[in-house]
Amino acid sequence: LTATDLIEEHRICVCVRKRPVNKKELAAKELDVITIPSKDVVMVHEPKQKVDLTRFLENQTFRFDYAFDDSSTNEMVYRFTARPLVETIFERGMATCFAYGQTGSGKTHTMGGDFSGKNQDCSKGIYALAARDVFLMLKKPNYKKLELQVYATFFEIYSGKVFDLLNRKAKLRVLEDGKQQVQVVGLQEREVRCTEDVLKLIEVGNSCRTSGQTSANAHSSRSHAVFQIILRRKGKMHGKFSLIDLAGNERGADTSSADRQTRLEGAEINKSLLALKIATISPGMASCENTLNTLRYANRVKEL
Ligand code: ADP
Ligand code: MG
Repeated sequence: LTATDLIEEHRICVCVRKRPVNKKELAAKELDVITIPSKDVVMVHEPKQKVDLTRFLENQTFRFDYAFDDSSTNEMVYRFTARPLVETIFERGMATCFAYGQTGSGKTHTMGGDFSGKNQDCSKGIYALAARDVFLMLKKPNYKKLELQVYATFFEIYSGKVFDLLNRKAKLRVLEDGKQQVQVVGLQEREVRCTEDVLKLIEVGNSCRTSGQTSANAHSSRSHAVFQIILRRKGKMHGKFSLIDLAGNERGADTSSADRQTRLEGAEINKSLLALKIATISPGMASCENTLNTLRYANRVKEL
């Protein structure tokens, strides 16, 4: 079954990506507790202790639409997740792709690209890859004749408030119209004519997202980032793709935000919404509990 088939069935496609062990985990000699034995199975080897204090690993198996191991690239993850949804918006659909997982498990790396080093590269994130394919699709004769315009928005939901990342973090109001459509009032929609235009907006938005923050991850662990690609025809909406880098799903750090997050997710995971979810997981033993929570949750989404 491919993601395209799932879209036809109007089912939610759930994929899980394991990131590689990082330097810190390596230095701490942390055990890698995740194996991906086949392309749709994730195994967690949870450390346990018997009453006599002997230790053992308890294996738990989860099955998803796709499981990507630590050697997978963003391009591969993209091809099986967001790529088929690019077609959906050309066919006048609304599509959503979420990244869900613990802070540090690779949501932003997957969605936005690599912002960790000095040379920030957003060109290989799912936002940029989707934009690239939107411009390729526009060249196809069938779509070319529709004379579609492409727009992008980029905003952040933090502490229950919405901030426009393309307009110096202007605080925006959210209204629900009569058709139960949520509207972000005054959100900047920037016209984009090529992938380069989109890359510039992602850079602007991302620097805006983290500016004034001592740690990018401390902030992003509690905020959702939403990047949208909108197709318009003679000013009217033709299709919309929302790519969402969710707040970290770990509990404890901020209970009130965890509650709000649960509510928000509940609202967003709507059966009528053509959604595709991705989950990212850390390989380290110290993350085991969070990883199991992520997998159990992702497993439930699959049944929707
Ligand atoms: P999150 O957004 O889930 O909090 P990040 O995307 O910021 O996590 O990832 C945390 C760190 O791990 C970053 O330095 C990132 O570059 C790195 N990382 C995440 N996923 C991968 C991957 N698949 N390959 C290489 N490095 C990764
Ligand atoms: Mg992040």
